[in-house]
Parts: sequence; C-alpha cells; structure tokens
Amino acid sequence: MHFMGIGAMDIGSRTAWDPAGVVIAIFIGLTFGSASAMLLVRLRGIASQLAAAGTLALGILGLHFVAMAALTILPAGAATPELTGAAPKLLALTVAFGAFGVVCLGFAAALLDQQIGGRKLAELKRIRALADATFEGLVIVRDEVILDINHRMIEMLDLRREDLLGLPANKLATNIGGLALLGKSGDPGPHQTRLQRRNGTCFAVQILVREVDFDGLPACVFAIRDVSIEERAKAEIMHMAHHDALTGLPNRLCFQERLVEAINQAGEAGSDIALIAFDLDRFKEVNDVHGHAAGDALLVAVADRFRDALPNHATIARLSGDEFAVILPNIPGRIEAIAVSQRAVNLVGKPFEFRNAVINVSASAGLTMFPMDGEDPDQLMQQADLALYRAKHQGRNCLCEFDPELGAIVHEKRSLESALKLAVEDELLDLHYQPQLDMDSGEIIGFEALLRWEDSVRGAVSPTDFVRLAEETGLILKMGQWVLVQACLEAVAWPGQERVSVNVSPAQFKQGNLVQAVQQALRTSGLHPSRLEIEITEGVLIDDEARALTLLQHLRDLGVSTAIDDFGTGFASLNYLRAFPFNKIKIDRAFMAGIQDDLEAQIIVRATINLAHDLGMGVVVEGVESYEELEVLGEQTNLLLQGYLLSPPLTRGQIPAFLLGSKSRRSRIVQACQPTNRRDVA
Ligand code: C2E
Ligand code: MG
Ligand code: MG
Repeated sequence: MHFMGIGAMDIGSRTAWDPAGVVIAIFIGLTFGSASAMLLVRLRGIASQLAAAGTLALGILGLHFVAMAALTILPAGAATPELTGAAPKLLALTVAFGAFGVVCLGFAAALLDQQIGGRKLAELKRIRALADATFEGLVIVRDEVILDINHRMIEMLDLRREDLLGLPANKLATNIGGLALLGKSGDPGPHQTRLQRRNGTCFAVQILVREVDFDGLPACVFAIRDVSIEERAKAEIMHMAHHDALTGLPNRLCFQERLVEAINQAGEAGSDIALIAFDLDRFKEVNDVHGHAAGDALLVAVADRFRDALPNHATIARLSGDEFAVILPNIPGRIEAIAVSQRAVNLVGKPFEFRNAVINVSASAGLTMFPMDGEDPDQLMQQADLALYRAKHQGRNCLCEFDPELGAIVHEKRSLESALKLAVEDELLDLHYQPQLDMDSGEIIGFEALLRWEDSVRGAVSPTDFVRLAEETGLILKMGQWVLVQACLEAVAWPGQERVSVNVSPAQFKQGNLVQAVQQALRTSGLHPSRLEIEITEGVLIDDEARALTLLQHLRDLGVSTAIDDFGTGFASLNYLRAFPFNKIKIDRAFMAGIQDDLEAQIIVRATINLAHDLGMGVVVEGVESYEELEVLGEQTNLLLQGYLLSPPLTRGQIPAFLLGSKSRRSRIVQACQPTNRRDVA
C-alpha cells in the first residue's frame, strides 16, 4: 500500500528508491506483522491483544519511515541517480503482493487458530461430560485448594459448584484429616472414610488418589465412590449372620462370640457368670398339632418373655428350633443365678394364646457357672446342655444345675443314636406281631406289627425310646419304609388272611409319599390291600387337615384301611372322628389300665365306643391285661381286643402256633364279655 501510494503521486518530479532501504522497510514490516499475528494466536486476553496491536503499529510505522528514507524525489529535469530508475512500479507491485501475502497469511493463521480453539473447546466439553458421567465423584486439588469438581460429586454433597471451587480441600473428609492431607500421604488408597452432606448427614465413601497433569501443572485427583449402600448391605448381612430372623435374638454364632467376650471380661474383673440353656418342652407337638404358624408365634412370644424375665445386660440367644441360651454376667452367686433362671422358666411356662386356642407350654433349663464349674466356653456350653438334658428327664418344666456325673448319660444317648443308625442301615431291626381278637366271633382278625431292636451291647431297647430317637434324628423315614415292606412281606406268609396293622409316624405321614410307599410295599409283597391297615396318631390330623384328609382318602381308595391310634391321649377332639374317614379307632391302653377302679375312665371308654359305632367305625381296645379290665366294658359288639390278656407281641415264628393253640383262651375272653357273665360279675 505504501509503495503504491508513493508511486501514484503526481508531483511533477521523478522519484528514485534506495534498494537497500526498500528491502529493510519490507523486512521490518514483515517481521513486526508476523510477531503481531503470533502474539494474537498464542496468547489470550486484553493485554496480549494490545501487545499485538502495538507490534503491528510498530511494523507499519517502521516500514513507512524506512521506506520514506529510501525515497529520493528529483525535481523534473534532474538527472536520474544511478540504479534508482529500476522500475519503481515493479517494486511497488512486489511490495503490494508481499503485503497481500502477509494479509493472507494472517487470515489463514486466524482461521487455523479459530479451528484449533473450537476443537479445544469441544474436547474440553467432552472431557467435562465424561467426568460428569462417571459414577464416582471427582475432585481436583492443587496447593490444598479445590480446582475443579464433577457433577456427581456436587450431587453427592448436595452443594453448588461455586461453594466448592476454591474451597480448602481439607474441609472434605475431615475425619481423616482432610483430602489435602490424604493427597500428601502418597498412599493411592482405597481409603475408607465418611463425607458430610449439606444437611449435615454423613455417608460412607471410598477414595482413590492419583497425581495428574492438570492445565500443564501437577495436581491431585480424588475419585470418590459413595459406598453407603454397600455398607448398609454389609451391616445387614452382619446382623443376619449374627441374629435369628424370627425372634431378632442373637444366634448361636453371636452367642459363642459373646460368651468368649463375657468370660474374658469376668476373668479380668474376677466376677462370676451364669450360663443357662433353655429348651421348650414338647415344642414339636405344638408344631405338629397347631401348625408352624403357631410354633413361630410361640417362639416370638417366648423370646419376649425371656426379655421380660431377664436383666437388661443378659445376652439372650436362640440357638436353634426351640433351644435358647442366656449369659448372665456379673451374677453375685449361684443362688441368684438359680433365682433368675427359675423366674424365666416360670414366665415362659405361662399358657400361650394363639388364634383362640390356649397352648400350654413349659421350658426346661440347665445352669452352669463360670468359673466354679468350668472356664472354657465350649466346656461350659456342654455343661449347660447336660444340665438341661437332666431337667428334661426329670419330668420337664424345671431347672437343673450342672453335675459332673451327667456327662455319662449324654454320652449314652449319642452312642444309642449311632448304634440305631447302624441297626437301620444293616437291617438289624425285627418286627413282632400282637394279635387282635374279634370279640364277636372269637377269631384273630389281625396283628399289629411292632418294631423290636435287640442291640448287641444294650439288649432289647424299648421302641418308645428308639422310635422317638429316630423321629428326632430323621431316621424314622428309612426305618418306617423298611417296616412297611417287611410287615407286608411277612403277612403274606401267614397261614390265614389276617390283617397286618403298621404304625406310621407323623414324619412319614407328612413326607408326602406315603401313598406311593404303601403302593410299593403292596406291589413288592403281593399282599392284598384289604389285608393292610395303617395306624396313625391324632396329632398328624391337626397340622394340615385338608392334606390329611386327602391322604386318608387316597389310602382308602387303594383299599387299605386306616386306624386312629392311641385315641384319647393326643390333642384331637371328637370332631376329628366325624371329619376323617377312619375304619377304626384304637382306645389307648392308658384308659384300660386299672379301669375297673376308675369310674371316669369307664365313662370315657364306653362313650367312645358308642360314638365310634354310631359313626360306623370299628373299635380296638388296647392294653387289656386282665379279665377285670375287660368285664368292665360290659356287653359289646363289634369290638376288637389287643393286649397281654390275649397275647404279648409274638415273633414271626410264633404266629402259626398261636393261631392254632389259643382257641380256649380266646373263647374265655369272649365269654367274659357275654351278658350272662356280666350279670355274674355284677
Ligand atoms: P402302640 O402303637 O400304641 O403299640 C402298642 C404298644 O402297647 C406296644 O408297645 C405293645 O407292646 C404295648 N402293649 C400291648 N398290649 C399291652 C398290654 O396289655 N399292656 C401294656 N402295658 N402294653 C401293651 P411297644 O411295642 O413297646 O410299642 C410302643 C410304641 O412304639 C407303639 O405304641 C408305637 O407308637 C411305637 N412303635 C412300635 N413299632 C412302631 C413302628 O413300626 N413304627 C412306628 N412309627 N412306631 C412304632
Ligand atoms: Mg399302634
Ligand atoms: Mg396304641
């Protein structure tokens, strides 16, 4: 522009240029122009823009003045100095092109700069979005001050970005000295700590620390994860692992830990501890008779009763099913321990109401003391169990103290258990058969199969004992199945068509495949279904009436008859006789023992016989031992008799001889119930 301007001047004279001056002027213009452009591209802010403008102005001025100095204006007619005639127009054009080039370059640089700036901004946005999208809170700290923070962190703390930017980093995570201190420690973590929200509540976090380059300078980035849900879940799992879900009491695991703790503390303080094991009496019956809902409600009520009866500092735990245990720390002595435990036994033993039914419960308890009886937690637990075991055997609803002799009794129970298991597995059990007499015809119409176990060491073990043990241990299922098949197989070999009655325990009844088991036994043995009778006790009916009814109906459909055993001793009411399709009822032998001297028993038995007959059921009187007992019944038809008076249970081999040789005894028994005879007795 400068050179073109000079060239266009029409001043009536000629001009001449000093080439060196021209070159220097252009050089100055280019240098300062470029410097100005560079300043604009590289630096931001007003100051740099001013500097760029100043540099450009210097460039323009420099070019202008130097170019002017290189110009010589010659009056018209003056001789043209050497060299200066060299095409000033060409020179001006060159300069113009140069300047144009510079301007183009400037534009290009500005365009490039804008593009780079845009890309940088987009990248910044992307990084911010990325940082905001993380599940972790991010805090960037330099020189102990918060430089930047992502959206998640703001959300977690429930604060605004402005509140946090520039804040001293130690204001966060104050309980571990603050974030800045954490950064300085050089430990990358994870660190567990708590942060505070705006409303003052705290939450658990996990922090990871890393050194980063932030805006060209080193800084610390803290990745912070809210772990409060995990912490809560962990706490819940811990609680569940240490507590019983039903009653909310500590469980066995927790109890053992607390016992160790209590013993350590008492050892240091020189104080005494009482350890008491409790067990509900006949809890299984409550479950069987009133159902599991009643059983659960009872357990909850018992837990509450324990809480009421025992001091606040006592640990009350539910160890399993109906087993509870208590630690009484700082107990002054044995007498006080007994008094507290007795109070608990009494309170638990109060009747319990469930859905309008009154359930009578009681508890047995075993007591042992630290350090008098023992100092080892396991040993103390065992001692309390032994004392409890004795309480159970002393008629329940009582408290027993530990006595060293008890160990032997418990040991015996355990060894009986394993011996029974072997006997069931090796089929060392046997069946005896007790005949049933038809009082009308004088014929033996059937036999009840009764389990016998002759242990090599103990001799004959009572079925009442080992059947209960088998029920407790679950062995009863295998044992019952064996009885069913064996009784059918043996009955097939009997000379006549007598029926075989098989006792089925509640566990078998509830297991669900009783009908299939009966079918299989009949198939395996080839016994006609009409020759099989299933005896069940009253208790199984009440648990699940609908199921029991279906099962009994299925058995009946198979052609198998059913009898209700031990009638009058369980929980069932006469109502069940109406509701359930039994073929027979068996009046328990407890009513028959000494009935001749027991007016009440006589009334009950007679009424039961009449009721059963009215409902179309047969009646078996069990456990008749003497004529006196029999005669009391008076004239009865449709009555079956089972008892020692007729015969004790017989071995398989004794049956044929009994059937042949018992005729006179049978007719004597039948005679005893004849009307004439009754008059004689009267
Ligand atoms: P239960 O079913 O009521 O059996 C009748 C019990 O009364 C038998 O006792 C029998 O020997 C006894 N008994 C019969 N007549 C008289 C008598 O005149 N006087 C006296 N005092 N007792 C008499 P056992 O054999 O000791 O069986 C006791 C209980 O063991 C049975 O009572 C039954 O509940 C259970 N049991 C026996 N065998 C089995 C079995 O195979 N399966 C199941 N689940 N339980 C069985
Ligand atoms: Mg029976
Ligand atoms: Mg019976």
